[in-house]
Amino acid sequence: MTIETHIELQRRQVSVEETSQVSVSLRPSNFDDYPGQRQACENLKIYIEAARLRGKMLDHCLLHGPPGLGKTTLAGIIAREMGASLRMTSGPVLDKAANLMGVLAGLEEGTVLFIDEIHRIPAHVEEILYKAMEDQCLDILVGQGPSARTVEMTLPAFTLIGATTRAGSLSRPLRERFGIVEHLRYYEPEDLCSIVIRSAELLGVTLNPDAAMELARRSRGTPRIANHILRRVIDHATVEGVFPVSLSVVQRALEQRGIDGQGLDHKDREMLGIIAARYDGGPVGLEAVAAAMNEERSTLEDVYEPYLIYRGFLSRSPRGRVLTSAGQEHIGSENSTISRTALD
Ligand code: ADP
Repeated sequence: MTIETHIELQRRQVSVEETSQVSVSLRPSNFDDYPGQRQACENLKIYIEAARLRGKMLDHCLLHGPPGLGKTTLAGIIAREMGASLRMTSGPVLDKAANLMGVLAGLEEGTVLFIDEIHRIPAHVEEILYKAMEDQCLDILVGQGPSARTVEMTLPAFTLIGATTRAGSLSRPLRERFGIVEHLRYYEPEDLCSIVIRSAELLGVTLNPDAAMELARRSRGTPRIANHILRRVIDHATVEGVFPVSLSVVQRALEQRGIDGQGLDHKDREMLGIIAARYDGGPVGLEAVAAAMNEERSTLEDVYEPYLIYRGFLSRSPRGRVLTSAGQEHIGSENSTISRTALD
């Protein structure tokens, strides 16, 4: 599965649930309801306030980090704080120059333009952005053949917010045109716990504090995953008739989803297991692991590997990926749990 398909599936899964099962949006609309990412939020608050005092638009802003950490949500909060309207599009949609020119030409004064997966804009389309970001204008070709000429169109003041899971894939000229670059990091369990409690409240459910913390601790540091698991936990609680939701309901729901005590899912464990069993703990190239898992290298690079490295189960060396002793230990204990369960 490619990273794009993976992210798209994650999104679709959530948005289908958001619209069908419960028509409640869990997306916060202000900084107060957006726990975590303190450094990025503090910086942004200052930059927004400064722009407001100057009576200007906020500088163009790049938000990067793994999927589900709140880049889109933050873009909405920024636009709201600036009192600006928000226009949303994404890299894959802007595959032709005409599409991007259409979006830029249609901007109104003071709009925040959010481009998700900005790294997927093709190079020849991306070049149009350079002038739009730097000089606030657009070159439009008028006429055909020998009489064709370029007319410069001045654009209204706007702020571009680009979001990407792969800052490294962005071309240097594009990256350099962002005055603000913020990296979103995995959430600490305490922050995820606040998110889970708020989401549960919005869904009209109460979780015992230890149940909320357990869910937070096992959600891969990612609010989208925490909210997603929360909905399944609520399903379990509904069927079992256990409200407020107890720790044991959360534990059962997580076990049923194959999420282990450390919050790793089946794919995380498969990745560690392959490196341990087939490559003696590494070092091994990511390409080989991807082939063994039947996954795209980019999916491993953007979704699985960053979290495993963050948790200290995996490390990167010049010769490839290496299982750490914690990773080795985790896979060992998981295997023994599995074989114990099989024996029982
Ligand atoms: P990204 O754009 O980075 O993939 P999103 O902004 O779409 O992530 O966030 C995914 C979901 O997680 C959103 O629906 C939102 O409800 C929730 N979320 C993300 N960050 C936070 C946060 N800091 N506080 C509360 N909810 C959050």
